[in-house]
Amino acid sequence: MEVRLPAQAVRVQRALEDVLLRCDVSARVATDPVEYVRRYSDPHDVELVALIASSVAFGNVKALRAKLADALERVGPAPARAADDARKLARSLVGWKHRVWVADDLVQLILGARAVQRARGSLGAAFGRELAEHDFREALARFVDAIRAGGLARVDRRSARHLLPDPRANSSCKRLLLFLRWMVRGPNGADLGLWREHVDPARLLIPVDVHIHKLAKNLGLTDRNAATWQTAEEITAALRRFDPADPVRFDFALCHMGMAQRCPSKRDAVRCEGCGVQSVCRHWQASRRPTERRRTP
Ligand code: SF4
Repeated sequence: MEVRLPAQAVRVQRALEDVLLRCDVSARVATDPVEYVRRYSDPHDVELVALIASSVAFGNVKALRAKLADALERVGPAPARAADDARKLARSLVGWKHRVWVADDLVQLILGARAVQRARGSLGAAFGRELAEHDFREALARFVDAIRAGGLARVDRRSARHLLPDPRANSSCKRLLLFLRWMVRGPNGADLGLWREHVDPARLLIPVDVHIHKLAKNLGLTDRNAATWQTAEEITAALRRFDPADPVRFDFALCHMGMAQRCPSKRDAVRCEGCGVQSVCRHWQASRRPTERRRTP
């Protein structure tokens, strides 16, 4: 049965569709960590590179892309094959560092993920198997457990624990959810669609980074101040009304618009100029005459 959306929700949906239409995907991909993932063709390599790229996707995008490029150059053109030689892999990454993460963290992540690939055939098959038996959050937590357990038994030192968040805690798990978006959605200009046979895009949650969080609050999709797992669920539930089969399809365009716009989360004639969601933003609506104000969806 088709559900009629409230008028303001329809306006938000139209604005989001417009942001999607106006997004120059290939230009934006060229500035995004996913661009590195798209350079690989072997599915095992694609999965590993996507996991590495999403795991280090924190902070300034230019800086993180440089660190990612450095790591991938050290690992070599065939990361899955490289991960079959733990000592050589560790030697190749000596000295690598990005923010709080050091070479050992990355080595453990790659070895753990490669061990899961060997045991289950692919990371996609491993996650799909968990998803068949558990709810989304528990399936993701078990997937993370498997990668953590697959690293070398050096619990006294660093481990994949440093790069992979625990979905059972209350983090929004933005980087893990970004990894899933890349693997499950598409193939299109940004996402790779490698796991379509294992995971239904309808089950994805939106990766809540600072840009998505701000925009979601400004559009009335959430009122939560902290970027938690519940925040990701709430924003996704709001987006699901617009597209139940693919609720995170607005993520790439919206996130890149947020980056370009440097949303000030207040009415600012200069910074808000050209913002694709200005017509439905709370900060612009708040400054209209009372009779012109719209209810949030
Ligand atoms: S109109 Fe301004 S405050 Fe509102 S979402 Fe756009 S950039 Fe942010």
